[in-house]
Amino acid sequence: MASQQARQFLDRMHEIVWQDMGLTPTPRSAEDGAEAATLINDLVDMRTGLVGPEALEALRAKLFRNEELLADMTVSKYENARTNQSLHKLADSVERAGRALGFPMPERPLLGTLPTGRVNVMTLLVPATREHLVLFESEFLGFAYLSAKAVAEVLPYRRSPEGGAAFSLEPGKVRERLEKYPQSAHRFGQLARAYLETGVPYNAPQYTQDPVRNTWAAMLCEAVELFALGHEYGHILKGHLGQQRPAARLGGPNLDEPEELAWSRQEEFQADAQGLSLSVAAMRSRGYDLPIGVLGADFYFTMMHVMERAISVLRHGHENGPDGDDAQRPSLLRRMVGRQSQNKPQGHKKSRAGDGTGDGAVTHPPSVLRRLMLRAVLARDNTPQIAAAIELGQNMEQVMEMLWFDLRPRLLDAHRAGVRPLERWQD
Ligand SMILES: [Zn+2]
Repeated sequence: MASQQARQFLDRMHEIVWQDMGLTPTPRSAEDGAEAATLINDLVDMRTGLVGPEALEALRAKLFRNEELLADMTVSKYENARTNQSLHKLADSVERAGRALGFPMPERPLLGTLPTGRVNVMTLLVPATREHLVLFESEFLGFAYLSAKAVAEVLPYRRSPEGGAAFSLEPGKVRERLEKYPQSAHRFGQLARAYLETGVPYNAPQYTQDPVRNTWAAMLCEAVELFALGHEYGHILKGHLGQQRPAARLGGPNLDEPEELAWSRQEEFQADAQGLSLSVAAMRSRGYDLPIGVLGADFYFTMMHVMERAISVLRHGHENGPDGDDAQRPSLLRRMVGRQSQNKPQGHKKSRAGDGTGDGAVTHPPSVLRRLMLRAVLARDNTPQIAAAIELGQNMEQVMEMLWFDLRPRLLDAHRAGVRPLERWQD
């Protein structure tokens, strides 16, 4: 259970980060409550006549109680209760899988969201505590789902006699389909641009999807989300923090020093491997085979690699990141610290952890390198299933390159026309 201190810390982070973007966060409030109440009442009214009035009132009371529990579980007053509920469901799955594997699963970290400016998840320590705070980019879940949906849109599939469907990621077949339905390639690009230019993936043109494709998309999305959270549990499990680091690094006595955990490359690879076992096991317990679990992790990196290039092309007109004259963009947390210390005298200065990244430059190994390491770790188990999983990932990589090929010139045109990604996106 998250401490009061931790919740307040997250609220404060929301205030600072939103303010930094020139926005005021709106607390979850009366409006959310009113919307939920309408939904509940509609739901109950639909049953009028089907059950007696007492049962009806009992149902109404139960639904309202659930809604209260939901709001109560939500860590920050600026969080969306439903997103938070999704995060807790993911955590339930990851923790259950970890326990089944015999891992000493930690106490649940605080789960929250923040517009972090990176298409992923990060872990912080709540200052002056040993509590972990796992923050998903505010729209990460929406983006993961819509990406999977956009990919499902370009894959050919065949119905099997038993009523199932077999999807093909085989590049030649995907290319054939793209030639036949060129507009299906635009979905991913529209999504990427909506996310980078507005911060909200759902601002992309929405479309209804064939339910067979949609089922596949939902499965891939689950695998991606489980891996993303599994990776963060991986850091905690591996003791990348706390036990191995001196207490002085655990943050100061107040909010001046939120510290993003700057992992070393080695630690990232370890957390990836651990996250993979957790997410594959969680997917298995939901009835999916190993290859699709692995594909979730592999696709996560492939998707990040496309987004990293998309940010760069839209901002600079090329893939190579900031030019010499572009000042190094300080990380979100570094900016937060800078901002707060304008008002308050700084206590002691801390050095960053381990990997020589220097002051505030939190470097993550490139997603391509992480993907390569992941496949190398997998390849040690020389089984047909693993080989199939790796091949799926490699095919997906080629499919995403086709979508990138479609998107790149559009980004370039937009860049030339003066369009830029939101300032928060880091490259
Ligand atoms: Zn990490």
